[in-house]
Amino acid sequence: MQNLTKDTEMHVNKVCIMGMLRKADIKITRQRVYLAGILFNLKQGHFTAEELHDETKQGDLKVSLATVYNTLNHFSQNGLIKTLQVDNQKTFFDRNTAHHYHIKSQNKIEDIAAEDVKIALSPSKIPAGKKIKSIDLIINLCDE
Ligand SMILES: [Zn+2]
Repeated sequence: MQNLTKDTEMHVNKVCIMGMLRKADIKITRQRVYLAGILFNLKQGHFTAEELHDETKQGDLKVSLATVYNTLNHFSQNGLIKTLQVDNQKTFFDRNTAHHYHIKSQNKIEDIAAEDVKIALSPSKIPAGKKIKSIDLIINLCDE
């Protein structure tokens, strides 16, 4: 009975992930479903390709780091996740695709709701015929 419940949960989860991939116009492959299954079940919402690759080592499907990178970039291009350039060293990926900002303290990245940040930008700073498409903001914290 326990196993049946677990299988049913896994099945629903997989169906859900396949629906998300289809909605993002991403061709379903075994590896993509597998990687999406892991990343949408990670505890933290922000992760690197290396962290996701480490998670795959516990599963039965072998996936190279290059495949993880390519898959994450593909997911990002299709809007399933966001790419987050925190510094020149590391690229993070973000499951939260809603408009929001980030606060970084040591190596921890957390979300800040867009409505909690006020950005004052003089309209004269925006060239004629252009408008703001998006604003990315990472607030880096250090000890006082
Ligand atoms: Zn985020």
